[in-house]
Amino acid sequence: MYYIINLTQDWSKQNKYLSNTLLQKIDENIKKWKKTIIYINRRWEFNCLFCKDCQHLYKCLNCDISISVHNNPKKLVCHICWFTKDIDLRCEKCSSTNLDFAWVWTEQIENSLKKIFPNISIFRLDTDSIKNKTDKNNALNKLYNSQIIIWTKMITTWFDFQDVDLIAVILLEQELVIPKYNIEEITYNNIKQLIWRWRNIDDKEIIIQTFLNNNETIKSICEDNYKDFFKKTIEERKLFWYPPFNDFAILEYRDPSEEKSLNFCKILKNKLDIINSKNDFEIILNSKWFRKNNQFHHKIILKWANLRDFLENIRYEIIRNPKLSLSFE
Ligand SMILES: [Zn+2]
Ligand SMILES: [Zn+2]
Repeated sequence: MYYIINLTQDWSKQNKYLSNTLLQKIDENIKKWKKTIIYINRRWEFNCLFCKDCQHLYKCLNCDISISVHNNPKKLVCHICWFTKDIDLRCEKCSSTNLDFAWVWTEQIENSLKKIFPNISIFRLDTDSIKNKTDKNNALNKLYNSQIIIWTKMITTWFDFQDVDLIAVILLEQELVIPKYNIEEITYNNIKQLIWRWRNIDDKEIIIQTFLNNNETIKSICEDNYKDFFKKTIEERKLFWYPPFNDFAILEYRDPSEEKSLNFCKILKNKLDIINSKNDFEIILNSKWFRKNNQFHHKIILKWANLRDFLENIRYEIIRNPKLSLSFE
C-alpha cells in the first residue's frame, strides 16, 4: 500500500513536514515492534519555492531545473547556469501571493521525532560516513537496534528490509531540486523501485509527503503514471536541448582570482563562438561565479547534437590545463 499525503492539508503542530497520518502510522508501527524508515534528501543546501494555490514549482528559465532560494542577498539562483532573479511577491503563473519555501533537513526531522517519541531509539544513518567494513558493521548493529531510522539514500541494497513495515519520503519535491537535467527521471525511478518492491507485500506501507500533490510531474511520479510522465519529460528535454536530443556538457574553470577565472572563460567562449559561427550550438557563459575551496568557479554550458566532435577543437586545452574540467552530464 502507498499513500500520498498533501502537507498543506495534513500537517502536525510539532513540525509542518510531519503529517498527522505519518505520526500515527509510526506510532502504530512502534506498537507492533516494527521499524520505520524516514527518507530525507541530505542535500539541504537546495530548496524550492512554490505556489500554494496553483502548485507551480519555480524553475530556471534557461535550464528547466529547480531554482534555489539564497539568503544573502535574498535571490533565486540556478545552480547550473547561475541565472539569478529576485524573489517574486506574486506567483509567476497565477499571480497569487501565497508563495512558500520548502526546506527540510535531517537534523530538524530527527529532533522533532525525538521529542514526539522520547522513548524510542532513533538512528540517523548517513551513508556517506560509511567508509569501511567496521563502519558498515557498526551501522548495521545500530540499524537492528533502532525503531526509527532516518535515511539519506532512497535505494540501498545492503540492508534487509524484512523488519521494516513503513517507509516515508518526507518531502518529494526536495528530490527534484538537485541540479541535474534528469533529476525528475531519477526520482521517478527511485520512487517506482520503492513502490514496486513493496506494493504486493501485505502490511508494508509507503508514505509520500508533498505540498504539491497536483503538480503535474509530482502527480505522475506519485501515481506511477509513466505515460504522462514520459510525454511531459520528453517535451521539456526537447525544448531545453537536453539528451536524448542533444549532448549536454559543462566546461568549468577555477582560479583563486575571480577576475582571472571569468576572463579565462570569456576568452574560451569567444574561441568557441568563432568555431560555432553558424550558431549551431548553444553556448552559455554566465558571469556569476561560485566559490569552493577558495577557488572561484565559472561555467560554460554547451548543448548540441554532437558535442564530442565540436570539443575536439579545444581538446589540448582541456587535457593540458588542470584548472579546466569538462563533464558530460
Ligand atoms: Zn500560482
Ligand atoms: Zn539555469
